[in-house]
Amino acid sequence: MTEKSLIEEKIAVFDENYPAVVSEIGAAAEKAGTDAGKITLLAATKTVPVEVVNHAVESGITVIGENRVQEYLSKYGELLPCTRHFIGHLQTNKVKDIVGKVDMIESVDSVRLANEISRECKKADKTMDVLLEVNIGREESKSGFYKEELPRALETVSGMENIRVRGLMAIPPAGEIEATKKFFCEMNQLFVEIREQSRYNRDVVYLSMGMSADFAAAVECGANIVRVGTALFGKRNTVV
Ligand SMILES: *Cc1c(COP(=O)(O)O)cnc(C)c1O
Repeated sequence: MTEKSLIEEKIAVFDENYPAVVSEIGAAAEKAGTDAGKITLLAATKTVPVEVVNHAVESGITVIGENRVQEYLSKYGELLPCTRHFIGHLQTNKVKDIVGKVDMIESVDSVRLANEISRECKKADKTMDVLLEVNIGREESKSGFYKEELPRALETVSGMENIRVRGLMAIPPAGEIEATKKFFCEMNQLFVEIREQSRYNRDVVYLSMGMSADFAAAVECGANIVRVGTALFGKRNTVV
């Protein structure tokens, strides 16, 4: 297949999938008793060609999420205006490459990384919105804070200069939807507990969880950012 027809095909896939994803989010929001307008559909665009990403933005996607610094930078110059989140594991030595180029880093998984973000943002005279990633399934293969580490991490990172903690993010273990829902509910409980503390209540407003297989369940459990890739763009050609 030529590159052009590949892009056309991916655009057709997106056009077919997008309304269905939006309506599924709407139904889940209704079930949860929330306003669908309060849920952000973040398009997870790893491996998706920039032409297709731009088509999604022109179609109504307002927030995109990228996983890899190098891939993001290669798309950066051509991307249409939209809100950009970094959602992948970020190495401290790459922080400087994306400061000023992303609106939020959702995947802050260590105090060391937060420190580096704070340092680089201070140098650049910027402030970065971040989410703290929680390893809710306690998986060794995944990064993120264990829930018992969260209160201290939150306090430490919130005290850093040029960084603003806006909420929590999680990727629960892959599995049956009922098990996944339990993790989503546990995340929601952590989120609510944090928001009950007046010192965090103003800034901590985002709960980012739910992907293609489970975004409706996530919304039902209180997510207000869902990160959806495959269900919008179809199967990824390359493994990331
Ligand atoms: C790829 C990715 C997603 C989207 O995954 P899909 O299953 O394709 O919807 C969401 N969040 C993160 C952190 C990702 O890396």
